[in-house]
Amino acid sequence: MNERKGIGVMQNVQPEIRIHVFHTGCVCVSPGLPFKDAEKNPNPVQLTLLSSYGRKQRLWLPVSAYLIEHPQGKILVDTGWHREISPKGEYSRWAQIRHLGLAHYLLNQGVLPLGESLVEQLARRNIQPKDIDYVLLTHLHSDHASGLRQLKEAKHILVSEEEWQDTKAHAERYVTSMWKGVNMETFAFKETGQGPVGRSFDLFGDGSVEMIQIPGHTSGLAAVKISHGGKFVLLFADGGYAEKSWKEMIPRGTALDAPQAYRSLQWIHDMSQKEECLESLANHNMDVIPHEIVL
Ligand SMILES: [Zn+2]
Repeated sequence: MNERKGIGVMQNVQPEIRIHVFHTGCVCVSPGLPFKDAEKNPNPVQLTLLSSYGRKQRLWLPVSAYLIEHPQGKILVDTGWHREISPKGEYSRWAQIRHLGLAHYLLNQGVLPLGESLVEQLARRNIQPKDIDYVLLTHLHSDHASGLRQLKEAKHILVSEEEWQDTKAHAERYVTSMWKGVNMETFAFKETGQGPVGRSFDLFGDGSVEMIQIPGHTSGLAAVKISHGGKFVLLFADGGYAEKSWKEMIPRGTALDAPQAYRSLQWIHDMSQKEECLESLANHNMDVIPHEIVL
């Protein structure tokens, strides 16, 4: 009896997957950006730091990045800020204008305390950029792609074809110098029936790490679903700003395609409520503190 039980346990032992949730500094936004408020913010321009409303009501939100320790390799999801935005670890207007350009500086500002860049946090775990097998980019907005040049020695840096197209079709929404000299590879979403538009990309072909297209905020935006032992963790990037986004179905203030963003949020809502969902995390949720998840 005991022996049989023992064998049963042995058969169930599969290498676990560890997900480390990091905060790599903060991003400053107007309050209408995370949670669209039609009454207070009828005009999208008022959401930005260009308007006095936007400047007065500024909100600082964390910028997350993730390390997945998977049996098949080390994976990063997004890059957080580059050290260049805060050379001394403090808010620096000029450093940001140099790194982001003036137009982006007016929309999106950041601060990166010393020791908090992704490469600094990885170094404390004895992980160098060359040890990373995959950098998966949910999308290429500045607060997600800023650190790319610091990670260019990673073996593969992947972004969806749609997102790569967006950087050309809507270049004003991106800071393309962030991937200058970086070997960017694109992946194709396939018609798998997964996600709000039925399209996803399976990194290892075993369903353990999937990039699921959740368009709206950008065309190529991807959520990352990490599955193991019948459970999953969903990293839904900028598909919403917090748990409140999907619980109360409050869309973000800006989207390339607002109706599609709402449909994607509906999918995040449905997935997050599944029993198998261990955690469902927005990139910029101020209620999430850095932690580790074992799947
Ligand atoms: Zn974004």
